[in-house]
Amino acid sequence: MSRKVLVIGEIKDASLRNVTFEAIAAAQKISNDGEIVGLIIGDKDLNESGNTMIQYGADRVITIVNEQLKTYTSEGFAQAVMEVIEEENPEAIIMGHTAIGKDLTPKLASKLESGLISDVTDIEVTGDNVVFTRPIYSGKAFEKKIISDGVIFATIRPNNITPLDKNENRTGEVSSKDVTIKDLRTVIKDIIRKTSEGVDLSEAKVIIAGGRGVKSKEGFDPLNELAKVLGGAVGASRGACDADYCDYSLQIGQTGKVVTPDLYIACGISGAIQHLAGMSNSKVIVAINKDPEANIFNVADYGIVGDLFEVVPKLTEEIKQL
Ligand code: FAD
Repeated sequence: MSRKVLVIGEIKDASLRNVTFEAIAAAQKISNDGEIVGLIIGDKDLNESGNTMIQYGADRVITIVNEQLKTYTSEGFAQAVMEVIEEENPEAIIMGHTAIGKDLTPKLASKLESGLISDVTDIEVTGDNVVFTRPIYSGKAFEKKIISDGVIFATIRPNNITPLDKNENRTGEVSSKDVTIKDLRTVIKDIIRKTSEGVDLSEAKVIIAGGRGVKSKEGFDPLNELAKVLGGAVGASRGACDADYCDYSLQIGQTGKVVTPDLYIACGISGAIQHLAGMSNSKVIVAINKDPEANIFNVADYGIVGDLFEVVPKLTEEIKQL
């Protein structure tokens, strides 16, 4: 059975987020040779991003450019996406499990009176069923779910589904659609950003995370150095954030960000269950801790019992030599 799948893409800092390409790969499995329609929303010309979605596997892309959609609001985006859904009648809708995806998709699902499977890490198509795998109990188990009635609707966790290879010769239609946004109750006047250098934590392939063991703001310096040589991002435990060694935007865990990088290096983190909830599905985990009994070693693929202030600079030097 083939299906028309709508992929809601996401633009950040004028570029498509990587999870958009992962969502297209997910859509390809679900569509079973049906049409994959991309959708992107913003306030500036989106043609180039539309073409990029096509090069990653979308068949055609609809762009909505509207001054009122310059920054995300759930009301504004929901109105715009609903117009497309009503016109296109997709049998499935896929979006990234990002801050925007988490906010927008339940609103759309309730308008559509459909189910929604969030935070999907794998997709399997068996006969007419699309079986979604997602973590439960803070990542301690996985469940498999299907939507048996209505629109198949899911958000996918970044860094879990491999994007299709980019094909620069692939072509398709990029069309623009006008929408009228009515009665917005929220208007974003300004966004004050923390300056963060480098790679976005939730999409980083390598994360160097620091815990209370880093002992101070300056204690993060060797971690920043290591992240720089590995092209990764720096994260933190809540212990480190609570102690004011770093900003809460770096927090990983149950009440922070959920990450699944290829490599997670935990430095001076004990491995509390709430921290593991945010990182235990990382592909390779390295733990550096002075305490050989620290719980983090129970989830680590490689463990180094030692002082992070000796181990991390040595690692950085070794990697620089490669
Ligand atoms: P600690 O537990 O104090 O561990 C510090 C570690 O550093 C120790 O293992 C020590 O051996 C090691 N160490 C010290 N010095 C060195 C050194 N020089 N070299 C190497 N190792 C060293 N926590 C999160 O992280 N994320 C969350 O999202 C989160 N959500 C929570 C939600 C709730 C409702 C609650 C109750 C708690 C939550 N927590 C969360 C807090 C969590 O329970 C832990 O308190 C926290 O993760 C501990 O942080 P830590 O490992 O950095 O600190």
